[in-house]
Amino acid sequence: MPRSADLPIPDPFDPVSLLELLGQANRVVMALDAAATITFINPAGAALLGYTPAELTGRNWFETCVPEDDREKARAVFEAAITGEDLPRRFESRVVTRSGEQVLFAWENTSTRDASGRLAATLGIGTDITERRRIERAHEWLTGLAEFTPDLVAAMQADGEILYLNRAGRELVGVRQDEPLKPYSFEQFHPSWAARVVVEEGIPWASEHGSWAGDTSFLRADGTEVPVSQVIVAHRDATGVLSYISTIARDTSAVTVAQRDVRRLNDELVETNRQLRTALEVEKGFLANMSHELRTPLNSIIGFTGIVRDGLAGPVNEEQHRQLDMVYHSSRRLLSLINDLLDLAKIESGRSAVEAREFELKSMIAPTVEALRPEADAKGIELTVHQPDERLILHQDCDKIEQILLNLIGNAIKYTNEGGVTVEVRVEGDDIIFEVEDTGIGIPPQHIPYLFNKFYQVWREDTAKPQGTGLGLSISLELAERLGGSLTAESDQGTRTRFTLCIPITFTAAS
Ligand code: ADP
Repeated sequence: MPRSADLPIPDPFDPVSLLELLGQANRVVMALDAAATITFINPAGAALLGYTPAELTGRNWFETCVPEDDREKARAVFEAAITGEDLPRRFESRVVTRSGEQVLFAWENTSTRDASGRLAATLGIGTDITERRRIERAHEWLTGLAEFTPDLVAAMQADGEILYLNRAGRELVGVRQDEPLKPYSFEQFHPSWAARVVVEEGIPWASEHGSWAGDTSFLRADGTEVPVSQVIVAHRDATGVLSYISTIARDTSAVTVAQRDVRRLNDELVETNRQLRTALEVEKGFLANMSHELRTPLNSIIGFTGIVRDGLAGPVNEEQHRQLDMVYHSSRRLLSLINDLLDLAKIESGRSAVEAREFELKSMIAPTVEALRPEADAKGIELTVHQPDERLILHQDCDKIEQILLNLIGNAIKYTNEGGVTVEVRVEGDDIIFEVEDTGIGIPPQHIPYLFNKFYQVWREDTAKPQGTGLGLSISLELAERLGGSLTAESDQGTRTRFTLCIPITFTAAS
């Protein structure tokens, strides 16, 4: 094998080898005579146009390869050159290939003239720039878009030199639209903390993974910070080397202000909530203490008033008896109000925990009903109980069920003047149901949804004003729910009312 030193060295100044070299290039190398006839075309160039050199040689250039609508103009330029004017050395023109496709060529020309100065021949080298122009157009289009977006768009070289900064970006960082970017470095457009994020986190991450997104900030010319949401993209060349970095950043100050407002409002809410909770604690504590303090002296007032009224401490006349009786009843009403308030305070402060224990159903119902029978008897109304015959041992908070029943049966007697009150007890699956039904004044339907609200009382023109506090039913409902059950009311106005208490229960024995 010959060593390279043995090969003939081509002479770069030999026109034949030069033409040969050009002929192999992916361009059109072509000579025309004064009549625009093709006298020479290289094979690669002819192939670009879809022909062989033999097919083109001898043919008129304008008629064969120039699109019809350009032909007249091109010919005029050529004709002017014949008589004296120089052909433009560089120009672009459209060329039509054999298949009819139009492509764009960039030409370099040189021409020779005869002794009389007339054009003798031209030699042209043409490069197909269709693809390059398409890319340039797309680039122009993208740059136009970047120029008009309100976001900052920029590109820089891997070494940090800024290549491009769009209109919005220049406005943001205070660089004039026509000012060269070379003296600037990207880091100086960021406050130091954000420059650190970009340099230490954003760019390394984008280089490794393609892109990075995060919150940073830019500096205005006056030094104020503009928070942005920024995307950094790393671009690599065909060999994989990082060639440049581009970025888009959107001003988020408006969003940040809104977020700050939400955060501030949230903080205020949390603080208001805390204050409310404290106020509520204080109120509950006050209520519980005061109720205790009031109950003790009130019990002795009731006790001693009863003794004096009934003549146990010496004789009283009829008027004294009547007045002492009023004191006695008012005190009892006051006591029941305080008891209700105490119950409510206990429930609301969470001090009324459920204490389940085993108990026998009948032995809970009997004393509850009997405690209220004197009141029913005094009004001349019936008080009837229907309950299962068998002995049922249940596991639940007996005291709370009893408290609810006392309130429901007490109300039924209170609001019934004729007829009676029926208490129906039955077991349904895992629940025990207590229905307290009366033949009393009833409850107008529009009041039913509010019955269980605290202090709610039904005021009616046709009956005496309600006696009580309006707390009993709300306490009963709270207790029922604590036990995992429910309490509902239904009524036919003027005829009857039925309250249904449903409590889940564990049966430990039955006989
Ligand atoms: P109160 O202490 O006023 O009885 P409750 O909370 O126990 O308070 O009852 C609220 C209101 O519901 C009562 O004021 C009364 O108007 C009405 N109500 C309760 N039970 C009955 C009933 N069985 N019949 C008619 N109205 C009733």
